[in-house]
Amino acid sequence: WFSRKVRAAGAIVLCETTVTELARDASGKVIGVHTDRAGGIRADVVILAEGVNGLLGTRAGFRKVPKPEAVALAVKEMHFLPEEVIAERFGLTGDQGCVIEAAGTISRGMAGLGFLYTNKESISLGIGCLVSHFAASLESPYALLDAFKDHPSIRPLIVGSEIKEYAAHLIPEGGFKAIPQLFGDGWVVVGDAAQLNNAVHREGSNLAMTSGRIAGEAIATIKSRKRPMTRDNLSLYKAMLDKSFVVEDLRKYKDMPALLHTNSRNFFMTYPRLLSQAAQNFVRVDGTPKIEKERATKAAFIKARSRWGLVSDAVRLALAWR
Ligand SMILES: Cc1cc2nc3c(=O)[nH]c(=O)nc-3n(C[C@H](O)[C@H](O)[C@H](O)COP(=O)(O)OP(=O)(O)OC[C@H]3O[C@@H](n4cnc5c(N)ncnc54)[C@H](O)[C@@H]3O)c2cc1C
Repeated sequence: WFSRKVRAAGAIVLCETTVTELARDASGKVIGVHTDRAGGIRADVVILAEGVNGLLGTRAGFRKVPKPEAVALAVKEMHFLPEEVIAERFGLTGDQGCVIEAAGTISRGMAGLGFLYTNKESISLGIGCLVSHFAASLESPYALLDAFKDHPSIRPLIVGSEIKEYAAHLIPEGGFKAIPQLFGDGWVVVGDAAQLNNAVHREGSNLAMTSGRIAGEAIATIKSRKRPMTRDNLSLYKAMLDKSFVVEDLRKYKDMPALLHTNSRNFFMTYPRLLSQAAQNFVRVDGTPKIEKERATKAAFIKARSRWGLVSDAVRLALAWR
C-alpha cells in the first residue's frame, strides 16, 4: 500500500538493496548512500528510517547504540486459523478485532507484557521485556512465550492453530530521554531509528509514519525556499516534530521508563497479583462477609508494599504519568 502511494507520488522504490554506508563529502556532509549494488545514490538529503538497530546512524557517529534498559526484546508467533474460527472464539463480527494484554507473573518480574491480537486469518501472540532485565535474570524469551501459550486463558484461544511465522525484534522503550540527535548536515532520522516509540501506549507505527511525514514536509519547505540541506536548515524538522503529538506524548511520559525500569517487580508482578486477588475477593460468592473480604484485600496490599510503599508508589506513578 505504501509502495503504491510512494510510486504514485513519483518516487522510485528500490527493493532488495542494502545501504552499506552513508556517502559523505570532505566536510562530513551526507551526500547520499553506498549500497550493495554497483554505484551509489547521490541525494540532497538522506532520511534515515532504518529501524531500531540504526546501524548506519551508529556507524556514522550520529547516535549511540541504545542502552539495554532503553530497548525491549519482543518475541512473537503468528498462529494461523480459519477466519470463522477466530471470529467465533473471540466473538467478533465484521471488521472487529480483539487485543489482549497480559501483565503479571508472565514477565517474571521484568518490565514487560504479553500480548495477543487477532488478524483476519491469524493470531499474533508474543511477549516483550526490557533487554536489561533479560540480561540480569537470564530468562529466555522463548520460555516466557511458551509459558504464555500454555496459560489456561490463552491455550484454548490458539488450539489447533498452525504457526507459520515467528519473529524477534527490538522495540525502543527509552522514551523522550533516549531520543538521539535528529538532524545534521544532509541527514535526518525518523521512526524507530530515532527511538520515537511510546511504550506506555504501545504506539510506534504511527510515530514512525508521522515523523517521516514531518521530515518530508520540512525538506519540501527548505527546498521551496531554495536553501541547502545544512544542519541549520534541517533543524526545521526538529522544530516541527517538537510541536507534534509525537514529541508532546513522549515528553509527557519522560519519567516513566526510569520508573518502570527500576520498579519492575512492583509494577509488573506485585500489583497485578494484588489487583487480581482483589478482583477475585470482590466477585467470589463464598459466604464470607464483605467487610472481612475488604479487610483481607487491604491487609494484602499493606503486607506486600507497606503503607509508606503504597503512598510512595502512587505518588511516583502520578508524577511520572502527568
Ligand atoms: C512485536 C512488536 C509489536 C508491535 N506492536 C505495535 C503496535 O501494536 N502498534 C504500533 O503502533 N507499533 C507497534 N510496534 C512498533 C512498530 O512496529 C515500529 O515502531 C515501527 O515498525 C517502526 O517503523 P520504522 O519504519 O521506523 O522501522 P521498521 O519498521 O523497523 O523499518 C525499518 C526498515 O529499514 C530496513 N533497513 C534497516 N537497515 C537498512 C539498510 N542498511 N539498508 C536497507 N534497508 C534497511 C529494515 O529492513 C526495515 O524494513 C511493534 C513492534 C514489535 C517488534
